[in-house]
Amino acid sequence: MSHKELSQYQETLNLIIEYAENLGYKESDYVTLLSPDRELSVSLPVSMDDGTIKVFHGYRIQDNGIRGPYKGGIRYHPEVDAEEVRDLALLMSLKCSVANIPYGGAKGGITVDPRQLSKDELERLTRKYAEKIFPVIGLDIDIPAPDVNTNPEIMGWFSDEYAKLVGRRVPGIVTGKPIELGGSYGRTEATGRGVTTVTHLYSQRLDLVPSETKVVIQGTGNVGLVTAQLLADLGYQIIGLSNISGAVYNPDGFDVSELNINNGDQKNYDILLDQENSEVYPDDEFLEMECDILIPAALGNQIRGNNADRIKAKIIVEAANAPVTATAEKILLEKDVKILPDILANSGGVICSYFEWVQNLQYFNWTEEEVNEKLVAQITKAFEEVVSVQSEQKGTYRQAAMSIAVDRLIQANRAKGKF
Ligand code: GLU
Repeated sequence: MSHKELSQYQETLNLIIEYAENLGYKESDYVTLLSPDRELSVSLPVSMDDGTIKVFHGYRIQDNGIRGPYKGGIRYHPEVDAEEVRDLALLMSLKCSVANIPYGGAKGGITVDPRQLSKDELERLTRKYAEKIFPVIGLDIDIPAPDVNTNPEIMGWFSDEYAKLVGRRVPGIVTGKPIELGGSYGRTEATGRGVTTVTHLYSQRLDLVPSETKVVIQGTGNVGLVTAQLLADLGYQIIGLSNISGAVYNPDGFDVSELNINNGDQKNYDILLDQENSEVYPDDEFLEMECDILIPAALGNQIRGNNADRIKAKIIVEAANAPVTATAEKILLEKDVKILPDILANSGGVICSYFEWVQNLQYFNWTEEEVNEKLVAQITKAFEEVVSVQSEQKGTYRQAAMSIAVDRLIQANRAKGKF
């Protein structure tokens, strides 16, 4: 459950102003980065299985399109609101800029707890959402993708509804699709693969030995689970894992090979708890577990002003979007905790979405090896750029990543000439 202390959106805008000014830019250079290009709010009437009609609420917010078509996922969550989607859309503009892929940023969402809906209801809701945001999306306009609580199956329904509306299949209208509908190999694992890549690159810089490095991961969704498995393959000890069913600790490190996204939260939790030396860990103290690397891979606003001083990890890798609030970050910096920011650490998903879209546009079909190789190369380059700017600026990794992102966005604005 997230508790918002300050508007993350406002915090991010303040950072943009600060970094743009540090780079020597004037207000006229960065002022267009401070408000979304377009916001769409839609109501979504859905026939429920019991014959009643329920009206849900959805959004598609296009933050900035100067570097290319708008790009970003669709989130299904009861706490989705315009302000959250606006912040997540802005993070997408910054993320695509740090990753240096030719996209702008967008985000979509529906205020709904998908667990309360039947599969048919979820499909009808998704189709209604596709229909309602249809006027503002397009192959080279705005390309949605999965986010929290959405998956390839949902993207398949979305792409089918779009096909109905235009009278033909347009595979590149959405990414994170099932392979059968033009999805890319490696896309489902891509965010976790990217998180793993930057975590490992950073550990190597600090000369950490994987077998002696203890990792705690919040979330066994697509991102947390793949990250746990890939880090375990590299020899890291995953000593803490949590999901909606609870939190588990194992001093010897879990065997995460049996975890599977299709198991659902309860079964994955049971698998962890059944292992030798596993024990239940108090949910509300989970993030404070003694470890070297903490990877929040669930929702935003998890590490806040009221728990940051109890965090014991030395490194935080933001696999979720905005899991550390600005207030928490100040407290963590005083404790010399290093944070690899979301706009770098979780960019593997959108990088692979870009590869999926490129394959769709060209009717290519790359192998999983090709995709993974390109993904690792692209995120490694982004990591190295961030590290190099950080060592010049002597600031935080977030400052370095934001500076790169803001600089590229402003340069694109300048290149286009007058508004
Ligand atoms: N939802 C993911 C993110 O926040 C992926 C977005 C995409 O692939 O377009 O980065």
